[in-house]
Amino acid sequence: MKIEIITIGDELLSGDIIDTNASYLSESLWSEGLEVAYHTSVRDDAVTMKEALLVASRRAQLVVVSGGLGPTADDFTLEVAAKTFKRPLITDENYVSYLKNLFRKWGRELSENNRKQALVPKGSKTFQNRVGTAPGVGLKFRQTQFYFLPGVPKELKQIFSDFVLPEILLQRKRGEVFEFKLLRCFGSAEADLDSALKDLYVNRLDIAGVRVGFRAHFPETLIKLSAWSAKAQSARKNIAEAERVIRERIGKYVYGEGDATLEGVVGDLLVKKEKTVSVAESCTGGLIAHRLTNIPGSSRYFKNGVVVYSNEGKMAILGVSRDIIEKHGAVSGPCAIEMAQGIRRISKTDFGIAVTGIAGPAGGTHEKPVGTVHIALADSKGSHEMKFIFPHGREWFKLLASSVALEKLRRALIAT
Ligand code: ATP
Ligand code: MG
Repeated sequence: MKIEIITIGDELLSGDIIDTNASYLSESLWSEGLEVAYHTSVRDDAVTMKEALLVASRRAQLVVVSGGLGPTADDFTLEVAAKTFKRPLITDENYVSYLKNLFRKWGRELSENNRKQALVPKGSKTFQNRVGTAPGVGLKFRQTQFYFLPGVPKELKQIFSDFVLPEILLQRKRGEVFEFKLLRCFGSAEADLDSALKDLYVNRLDIAGVRVGFRAHFPETLIKLSAWSAKAQSARKNIAEAERVIRERIGKYVYGEGDATLEGVVGDLLVKKEKTVSVAESCTGGLIAHRLTNIPGSSRYFKNGVVVYSNEGKMAILGVSRDIIEKHGAVSGPCAIEMAQGIRRISKTDFGIAVTGIAGPAGGTHEKPVGTVHIALADSKGSHEMKFIFPHGREWFKLLASSVALEKLRRALIAT
């Protein structure tokens, strides 16, 4: 089944607003195994809209249209649809009653403009809008099922998820089920993960009858596994088998599944292993502490986090020696190690993590370019640090450095 999404609105094409409706609809359909073949966006212009509806009716069997159902003069999607599909516009009396009731509840009279919203092409089915006033409209033209939804994202989502998607799923050919799973990876680039799996692919991207898809989601890479099958059980079995062979190759980069987060996974491991952590941050400005403390219940394992931006702070608070700073500088491996040991000692935690670096844009030298960062971890067995260069601009630099630090802790926890 070919699916098309048409979003209508001048603001979409002028770049004033981002087309979140198209991505919402695609994602909702995708997570049911229904792939969208075309996204079309057109202006509030009757001729272009008609053209788009006709093209879609020829190449797609399911079309979801967003926008232009409002009560004002610039909203005429259904008028265009009626003309295009050669159906008269008629009043849906049921929807008029629904609107009348709604307005009575609000203590208002139903206005002519709002009454116009119950005017739909003959043969349409209307769906209640529980957030606003424009109905959702379902209409079949030749072999193609059209759904027209309001452009306001909240309204579109409600009508789509309450009525339209369930109806689409009901009509889906029986005996076709879809399963999917998301593996979240960190520490290896998308291209490298792909290369590591390349020889497993059968006809382009399938492993064990499962479609493998990559998505970069800085600083992570997501691997989407999707399987269609006659039986849910066999789809799940295929996914499990594909996952097994993928993990065999690149398992050490897979930190979680579904909507897991690195900090959440680290938190779970800290609880499970009954360990505690504290952090000393310079260039990440508290982001590691922020991420760890976003997890409910983090007080069980997170003890202290300090932001030590100045050399004085590093010495006075963490006990970093003046000697180290004078000899190696604050952005150095030895300083990172003393910071990690210092915060671990003060906080009496199992782990101490420290980050020191140059986020830029200024402050870099030939020896220590912008993006240089040292990340250290101290525990009862000792301490070690690693140097990286992340020339990515301040925000990405902080995000990436904090993720590397969390990943370092995750690996240390797995090893204990
Ligand atoms: P209204 O009753 O508000 O007129 P409508 O169905 O006529 O609803 P539009 O006029 O096309 O819808 O859009 C209303 C508002 O919804 C827009 O100003 C915009 O903020 C938002 N919107 C419309 N289309 C999209 C879209 N594709 N993605 C995100 N937001 C959108
Ligand atoms: Mg409008």
